Formats: sequence, structure tokens, C-alpha cells
Amino acid sequence: MALPVAMAQQGVRDRLDRPMRDLRISVTDRCNFRCVYCMPKATFGKDFAFLPQQSLLRFEEIERIARAGAALGVRKIRLTGGEPLLRKNIEQLIEKLAAIRTPDGRSLELAMTTNGALLRRKARSLADAGLNRVTVSLDALDDAIFRGMNDVDFPVADVLDGIDAAREAGLAPLKINMVVKRGVNEDQILPMARYFHGSGAILRFIEYMDVGETNGWQRDHTLPSRNIIDTVGAALPLIPVGRHHASEPAERWRYVDGGGEIGVISSVTHAFCGDCTRARLSTEGALYHCLFATRGYDLRALVRDPSVDDAQLTAVLAGLWQGRDDRYSELRGRQPADPAAPKGNARRIEMSYIGG
Ligand code: SAM
Ligand code: SF4
Ligand code: SF4
Repeated sequence: MALPVAMAQQGVRDRLDRPMRDLRISVTDRCNFRCVYCMPKATFGKDFAFLPQQSLLRFEEIERIARAGAALGVRKIRLTGGEPLLRKNIEQLIEKLAAIRTPDGRSLELAMTTNGALLRRKARSLADAGLNRVTVSLDALDDAIFRGMNDVDFPVADVLDGIDAAREAGLAPLKINMVVKRGVNEDQILPMARYFHGSGAILRFIEYMDVGETNGWQRDHTLPSRNIIDTVGAALPLIPVGRHHASEPAERWRYVDGGGEIGVISSVTHAFCGDCTRARLSTEGALYHCLFATRGYDLRALVRDPSVDDAQLTAVLAGLWQGRDDRYSELRGRQPADPAAPKGNARRIEMSYIGG
């Protein structure tokens, strides 16, 4: 079953005319941290049942789905989790993904989001396998605040060392993600900005989001990115530079003194669904069209069915994307009386299951 010519050339578009450009793949639901806003210990404690090994998509299965995505327009793959560096032999998956080509013969951009705990050990082998860049999550420079936020007493010095290792291995440009939770780490905004100013790494501040069901999110826990920009800009003047491309989640700001740039991801106060080109593949092979989706489509059953060939898999993926109309963040801002506003009565998936 060949793809229609237009689809092979331009890729597939959803019901809001958004192409499928990014595929985020969660390679494990496990993590060595218990960040309070993501995997709170009260839920993810000793008795929590993580997925059994046989439920996880195998590397060959992930590769097949990624190839189908590339045929339909995917240009960038991000490995995430849980903590992706906990997945055994992750380098082997990176090698397979690095060999994929787009219809016009280009390789995909390969990135990973990690908490950085294992980066000193792994950065070189990741780069050798074909990973292009990493985003490291880091919520504070103050050791006590950082240990409290990861809730496993992990020292900040080891993450900073992991960041250095990533830089040495050429996994650049480096991005650093800081989730800001009001009253918890907002006093770390300026120290973080100062630390990464002039370093070549791009610090991005993320508004704490109402993702999943376990983190007890309340709107006043979110510090609007406008306040973050004001705080940084008062000490280190900034000018806005927009986005690289429309589908980029971060709004970029440049330091007037030439010290590089920062970004803000305003997922709560300034939704960007209109340009959202991201598909997400869960650890067990369910395809989600949105971080806030309540249902995924089981691609694992498809890739484990010997009667389904690659062309059929690609056609199913195309059909799913063509039916997509998700825009949760945009609708969140509406009054509940608006029939399109999210109802919140269906169970939402957790960030650690689907990845950020
Ligand atoms: N474990 C890896 C890490 O932390 O980088 C990858 C997975 S983690 C789920 C991906 C990103 O989601 C991280 O940058 C994390 O800070 C962010 N994240 C998790 N929960 C969040 C929330 N409630 N609001 C905003 N960002 C969140
Ligand atoms: Fe783990 Fe990342 Fe979630 Fe923190 S944000 S608990 S490091 S998956
Ligand atoms: Fe994309 Fe969903 Fe986030 Fe909107 S809410 S930007 S559709 S992931």
C-alpha cells in the first residue's frame, strides 16, 4: 500500500492542519528521582507497580514506528520517560534511530530529556551512538532545595557534572529545563539564570502544569512566565526574539549583553496548541496526540501482529493523525460554561508514563 504522493512529500496533517513533526518516545516508566511535581512518593512508593519488561516496546518495535513516523513527516525524535538513561542498552536504540532517513534522504534530529544523574557515565556513549543533543532537567542550584525537589536526596553537584560531561561529548546546544513551582523554587530563578548566562546552554523556565492526576496541582502553584521574565530581566536585561519556528514550545529571550538566551514555556498562561506538532509514544506502545490525552491508541498490538506490514502500520498512523483535534491547553483557559472546555472527568495519564 503506497502512500499518496502529496502525503509522502508534505507529510500528514491533522484536523487543525498541523503536521506531525516531532515524536516523543518514552522508553521507560521508571525513574531514579521522585520529583514532587511528577512522581510524588505518596503514589510512586515502594509498592507502585511499574510496567513488566514484556510490556515495554522492544527497540525493533520502536524503530518500526519511528520509520513510519518519518515517512509521514516526523523530523525530530526525543527520547524521554521516566528516566530514559535507566533503559538498558539505550545506545542500541539510538543507533537504530540514527539510521532512519526522511523521504528526502535526511537523518532525523535525535534528542533526549534526562535528569542528568547518569550523564557523566553515559554522555560519550550516547554521542557515539548518534544522539545529537540533550535537555537536562534541573530545578535548583541550591543543594538543599534540589535534594528536596528530587526527593531522593540527589546532590546538585552530580547533575552539574553530568551537564559538563554532555558538553564535553558535544551533545549541544544544551538545554536546561527548570520547572518553577511557586513557593518552592522561585528564589532559584535568578541564581539559575546567572549560572547559565554566557555558558552556551539555553535555560528554559517551564510553568508548572496540571499534567497527570497525582501531583495535586493548583493554579496558584504556577508562576506565570511573565513574572519569570521580569525577575531575570531586572538583573540581566533581555529582549524578546520570538520562536525559531511556530511549533517550538519556548518563547525565546536574548540577553542584551550577549550572554546568550533563555526560554519560557508558558503551557498554562499562554497556550500554544495551534502549532503543536508533537505525537507521543508511551513505554508500552500507545500513541497519544496530546500530553493531556486520556486515551492512547495501541500500536504495540499492531507491531506484534505478524500480518501487519510496514505500509499498513504507516497507513494506520496517518489515519490516526488525520483524526487529531486535541488542544487541551488552549481550552483550559476557557470558562467551564464553554462546551469545549475540558471537563476533567476522565483519568489523565502521568508525565512519567508518557514523557515531557
Ligand atoms: N526524567 C527525565 C527528566 O526529568 O528530564 C525525562 C522525563 S520528565 C517527565 C520530562 C520533563 O517534564 C522534565 O523536564 C520535567 O521537569 C517536566 N515535568 C514533569 N512534570 C511536570 C509538571 N507537572 N509541569 C511541568 N513540567 C513537568
Ligand atoms: Fe523522574 Fe523526570 Fe519525573 Fe523527575 S521529572 S520524577 S526525573 S521522570
Ligand atoms: Fe500540544 Fe496538547 Fe500541549 Fe496543546 S495541550 S500544546 S495539543 S500537547
